[in-house]
Amino acid sequence: MKKMLPFTRPTIDEETIQSVVEVLRSGWLATGPKVAALEAALSSYLGGRPVRTQTSATAGMEMALLACGIGKGDEVITPALSFVATANVIVRVGARPVFVDVGLDSRNIDLDQVEAAITPRTRAIMPVHFAGLPVDMDRLYAIAGKHKLRVIEDAAHAIGSAWRGRKIGSCGDLVCFSFHPNKNLTTIEGGAISGGSPDEIKTIELQRWHGQVKSGVDGFDTLIAGGKSNLSDVAAAVGLGQLRHLEEFNARRRQLVARYFELWSDRPPVRLPERGDDGHSWHVFTPLLPLDTLRISRPRFIEAMKEQGIGVGVHYPAIHLFTAYRELGYREGQFPNAERIGRETVTLPLFPAMELSDVDRVVEAATQILQGARK
Ligand SMILES: *Cc1c(COP(=O)(O)O)cnc(C)c1O
Repeated sequence: MKKMLPFTRPTIDEETIQSVVEVLRSGWLATGPKVAALEAALSSYLGGRPVRTQTSATAGMEMALLACGIGKGDEVITPALSFVATANVIVRVGARPVFVDVGLDSRNIDLDQVEAAITPRTRAIMPVHFAGLPVDMDRLYAIAGKHKLRVIEDAAHAIGSAWRGRKIGSCGDLVCFSFHPNKNLTTIEGGAISGGSPDEIKTIELQRWHGQVKSGVDGFDTLIAGGKSNLSDVAAAVGLGQLRHLEEFNARRRQLVARYFELWSDRPPVRLPERGDDGHSWHVFTPLLPLDTLRISRPRFIEAMKEQGIGVGVHYPAIHLFTAYRELGYREGQFPNAERIGRETVTLPLFPAMELSDVDRVVEAATQILQGARK
């Protein structure tokens, strides 16, 4: 068998590894100077906005909701297609996720349906910049402004993405990034929130570390029953090393995707995702399999690719069809695009250390398997 090509793999350079060794030798491992340096570097990358790191985007999004005062009796509008974390955090703060469908090729929240889903209980919109393709920010914020809603952006895929020249996270309300190893920038596990009002940022800081402040009789007080989601300096050192390469990594992702589009420019055996422009950071490359015209299932396709030494992922099944969400009353047939994407999507290899010839190999294998499986 040929060398295994995974669907994603982080690139960590020697300098970053050395910087982690230095932190380990420094005697200060938890939140300290490296976290402060990472927050400052991210802030400067995002045009000077306040940035607060967390141990994950999930933790960040949950805190963002709490910071906006969202809880029991409130509704938050979010797409039916995303990683389940986007909806889980809404449920966890006691609010109701109100799903809307996504565009079949953009995978992004359908803004026409957002307006229709607004009720007197709606407090926020939680869109996802799927695969790093920015949501139409002008329309999104026009809707939010008109109905006085906060926007909590799930930007887990979108570090380095830009909407009409403006970086995602350099504008908007509360923008939550993920630094999981699969994402375009990693801190091993980690996340960050860019933006927020001064009060919201204060709440995020309290939620992140036990609600503690340096005041009161003994020099510390606990203002709220906060949690514990502060990033470590070890993780931040990895993030600082990654941030130095982010633009180069994302440019490489765009080159690799351009190769996929070029090789599949003529009657592709898959349905290609929306291409976007240079503001697309291409976290994942996720075409759809035309299952209606095939004799094989998606698991069989994934297995056949694996036999050729190629890893294939699934991002993602539709959220509303998971047991926990059916229990909230959601059912099949409500969001046809999310459901079709959930059934047909496959994530093909895409990461900065890939060669263009790896793309050729993936396209050749997938085309051959799919052509051989036509009904
Ligand atoms: C990865 C991901 C998350 C969660 O990120 P963590 O840092 O792992 O908590 C949330 N939303 C989307 C769309 C993601 O892809």
